Amino acid sequence: MHTYSRKLIIALTFIALTCGVAVAQKPPLRSITYRLSMSRPVSHLFEVAIIVELPEQLKDEPLQFQMAKWSPGRYGVFDFAKNVQEVRAVAENSATRPVKRVDDQTWSVAPLGSTTLTLSYKVFGNDLSGTFSQLDSRHANYNGGSIFMYVVDHKPDPVKLTIDPPAGWKIVNGRTVRAGQTEWQFPNWDVMIDTPTEIAPDWTQDNFEVNGKKYHVVVHSFGPEGGKRPGLVADIEKIVRAEVAMWGPPEFEEYTFLIHFAADDHSGDGMEHLTSTQIIQPGALAEPGVYEQTLGTVSHEFFHVWNVKRLRPQELGPWDFTRPLSTRGLWVAEGFTNYYGHLMLRRSGIWDDKKFLDRQAQTIRGIESAQGSRLMSAEESSMSAPFIDDAAHVQVTNLHNTSISYYPKGQLIGLVMDLLVRGRTGGKASLDDVMRDMYEEFYLKSSNSSYYLRGRGYQTEDLERVASHRAGFDLGDFFKRYVRDVEVLPYDEALAYVGLRLVKTQAKEPFDAGMWVEFEDPREGIIENVRNNSPAEDAGLQSHDALVSLAGKSVTKDSWLKTLAQYKSGESVPVVVRRDRRTIKTQIVLGQPERFDYRIEEKTDATAEQKALRTAWLSGK
Ligand SMILES: [Zn+2]
Ligand SMILES: [Zn+2]
Repeated sequence: MHTYSRKLIIALTFIALTCGVAVAQKPPLRSITYRLSMSRPVSHLFEVAIIVELPEQLKDEPLQFQMAKWSPGRYGVFDFAKNVQEVRAVAENSATRPVKRVDDQTWSVAPLGSTTLTLSYKVFGNDLSGTFSQLDSRHANYNGGSIFMYVVDHKPDPVKLTIDPPAGWKIVNGRTVRAGQTEWQFPNWDVMIDTPTEIAPDWTQDNFEVNGKKYHVVVHSFGPEGGKRPGLVADIEKIVRAEVAMWGPPEFEEYTFLIHFAADDHSGDGMEHLTSTQIIQPGALAEPGVYEQTLGTVSHEFFHVWNVKRLRPQELGPWDFTRPLSTRGLWVAEGFTNYYGHLMLRRSGIWDDKKFLDRQAQTIRGIESAQGSRLMSAEESSMSAPFIDDAAHVQVTNLHNTSISYYPKGQLIGLVMDLLVRGRTGGKASLDDVMRDMYEEFYLKSSNSSYYLRGRGYQTEDLERVASHRAGFDLGDFFKRYVRDVEVLPYDEALAYVGLRLVKTQAKEPFDAGMWVEFEDPREGIIENVRNNSPAEDAGLQSHDALVSLAGKSVTKDSWLKTLAQYKSGESVPVVVRRDRRTIKTQIVLGQPERFDYRIEEKTDATAEQKALRTAWLSGK
């Protein structure tokens, strides 16, 4: 079954490539220029004009313009076309041309013999996010994929971008080379939308250099900074130094961190790009914890400079934006980036050993407690990305019980693989070496597989091969059991190589009966989810039931687990719930303990060699 479906995928890929070649033979347009204006920021309407100059042989053929259904880095399907309005087309001398809506994302324009066409439209944006865009009285911040249509069959063509900002607003992005710049030239549409842009009167910019490369930290704060910005910039530099020490010099000359402190308690994101990242924190920099969270996101996103933006799974660019992405590699692309994001905080000295190990133990607890861990492999999780990567669901799903995220699962595969390679080779090789080998083979040394980017993408089998070669032992069995199947990772063997062990203990409140209870009102718990085959499901409880009482008393966010903890396995707990207008009384019969704590601690018999391996791992030296 598995082999069969893989053959099918290869066959389909071949057909797709063949079509791609046929399409590329269309003559390029003479020019494509994007004009972006924002004459009325308070309306949240970006004004876009796409001016195309057609070659003679295309002046009688309809030209199609398309809004992407999603954009790179976030794999949920959002259908950006839903925010487009007032689509119009004109030819030379402002003569109108008919615009026909072809489908949910496509508009077609007949040039009727004209060699210049301007398609204009407005697009609404009021989300501060790495995936969406926001225009309001304070600023414009956009992700190009959510506002710029591409010309169908002409995504590879070079494009020019002109931005007309409101008076007094300054433009900055990861391709800005001089102050006051309002025009950019991009090799293709994909690179243009890889360049998120900030336009506002009052962002700040701090700069530093590492090994001759320039780094810019652009901050737009909607709340107090508490004097913490200089410290933040200094810590970002430490992270850059730690990551460059692992990978070697990055390919770019300049890189920009675009950071927003949204101070709205809900906007939060991090999005990777070739020469920049968008980071959005929901709090204000002055507030407790925000500084640390920002560095966590910085460490993750900067690692993507190599892992994902350049060293990438084969399916990550150029993309087909008419359908969701399918790749088996996101547990490497995002999961390994999660792992290294943490490790680099340790190597840069921002975290100590304990903090790093505690965070790994926390991730182990999350993965090992999730029912989906025994149902969904890392590769399947990656293939489910359009459903689980922040996707909105109108239809009710069972994903809470059946899925896991490739972020934490991939993080743990990275952790265990790194330690197995270090341990079994006595420290001669590591996952760092494997990642560098991959970068060299697929990005630096491969011939270009497309117009979009240098090098070519990898398949997960390539990682298996490169890792086995570097480690000197066959990782085929590891990939089969822990990447493509759902076996529990060999934490004990991995941690023992560096003199550590994983300790699993029953939690102080060992039962949740399989219920996930949310308390929006602190006195009324709503059962959000019931685990399949759990005591709560046996008791007939369902999601959306309101918890009226447990063991004869009302419960709060803080007390419901404590109430269950007063009982033992096999005992019955009376429960009353309200479902719609009915009150239902039933009994939960508790099963085996289901809540556990995990910690990683030093083995009492750790040898000097194991401790040395641990130091090399955590310090990167
Ligand atoms: Zn801003
Ligand atoms: Zn990421």
